[in-house]
Amino acid sequence: MKLLDAPQPAEVAPPYPDHVLLTPGPTPIHPRALRALTRPMLGHMDPEVFKLNRAIQADLREMYGTEPEAFTALLAGTGSLGMEAGFANLVEKGDEVLVCANGSFGRRMAEMAARYGAKVRLVTAPLGEPINPSDVADHLGDAAMVAVVHGETSTGVLNPVPEIAELVRHSGALLTVDAVTTAGMEPFSMQQWGVDYAYTGAQKCLSAPPGLAPVAISERAFARFAARRHPTPLWYCDFEGLRDYWVEHTYHHTVPVNLHFAFAEALRAALEEGLPERRERVRWMGRAITEALAPLGFSPYVKREEARLPTVLALRLPEHLDDAGVRAELRRREISITGGLGPTAGVIWRLGLMGEAAHPAPYRALMVALEDILGAPGLVRRFEAALDAGSA
Ligand SMILES: *Cc1c(COP(=O)(O)O)cnc(C)c1O
Repeated sequence: MKLLDAPQPAEVAPPYPDHVLLTPGPTPIHPRALRALTRPMLGHMDPEVFKLNRAIQADLREMYGTEPEAFTALLAGTGSLGMEAGFANLVEKGDEVLVCANGSFGRRMAEMAARYGAKVRLVTAPLGEPINPSDVADHLGDAAMVAVVHGETSTGVLNPVPEIAELVRHSGALLTVDAVTTAGMEPFSMQQWGVDYAYTGAQKCLSAPPGLAPVAISERAFARFAARRHPTPLWYCDFEGLRDYWVEHTYHHTVPVNLHFAFAEALRAALEEGLPERRERVRWMGRAITEALAPLGFSPYVKREEARLPTVLALRLPEHLDDAGVRAELRRREISITGGLGPTAGVIWRLGLMGEAAHPAPYRALMVALEDILGAPGLVRRFEAALDAGSA
C-alpha cells in the first residue's frame, strides 16, 4: 500500500515565505482564485466546464461593457497573445494600420501588426506623455485599423481612449485597444466608446494566475473577420475556431481548465466588488503612497494629472537614490517592486496598483521596509495618515 503512505499535499506545505508582490504584473493571486486552482480536474469538453465558460463570457461582457451579443473568450496564453490574435484575425497583408506608440507596449503592437503584413504608420508622443487625439485625426487616412494601448505600463501613461475612439468611430477603421492595465480595475465601455477589439492578461488587474488572455470582439470586428480574403495564419487563435469551442462546443484545442476555474473566481470577485469601487480603491492607494513618499523627493513622473495611469504608479526617483541597491535590499526582505524600462531605467519606479496589490497591507510592508532602508523616520506614519484622510 505504498500509495496510501505517500505524503498528502497538506503535509508538504512548501517552505516559501510570504512575498509582497508590487510589480505591474503579475499581481498577487486572489484568494478565491487560489482555492479554485486546487479543484479536481475536469475535461475541457465536460458540460460543467461549458457552463462555467458561459458564465465567464457573460462576466467578460460586463467587464468590457460590450454589446449584449458580443463574442468574448479566453485565449490560452498571456496578454501578448491577446494582442497578437487581434492583428492575426483582423489585419490582412497590405492593410494600413495606425498604431499609437508612446511606450514599449505600443511598439510591440506595431511590430506584431507588421509581422502580419500590415503597412504600419505610427503616432508617437514624447516619453511620459499621452497620445494627442488630434495627431490620430491627422494621420487617420484610410487606415483599416487603429491600435492604441489604454494604459502604457512602461511609463505609467493613460492614453485618451474615449477621445481617440470618437475620432475613429466614423472612419470605417476598426479600433483595437490594449486594456491590460485598465479593464477589470475601472469601468471600460467598448460599446459606448466604439471599441472593436480589446484584450487583457489574467495576471494583471484581475489577479488570476498568468496564462489566459480574456478578449472581446465587437460584432463589427467579427463581420470584418468573416469577410477576410484569406484565413488567418494563426490557426491557434482563429476567431472561427474559438467560436467553434466557446459557442458550438466542438473541439478546437484543449483549454487550460484549471486556469479557467481560477479565472472565473477572480473575475466574479472583481465584479462583486464593483468596478467603480475598484477604481476608487486604486486612486485612494495611489494618493496615499504619493503623499507619503513626496517629502523624500519622489514625484509623479507623468506631468499632467489626467494622463497618469492609476494602476501603474510611476514615480521619479530622488537624486542620488541607489535604485538597484534599494530594490535589491527590498527583494532580500521579500518585497518586489519594479524600476524603469529602457530610457526610464534608474529614473523611475513603477509601483503596481492592479488587483490585489492595491490594498493597504502590502504597501504598509513596503513603507516599513523603506523607512528602515532609507533611514526615513515618519514614512509609515505619513502613509497611515494619508490613508485615513483619503478614506474619510
Ligand atoms: C503586461 C502587458 C502586456 C503583455 O502581457 P503579457 O501577459 O506579459 O504577455 C501588454 N500590454 C500591456 C499594457 C501590459 O502591461
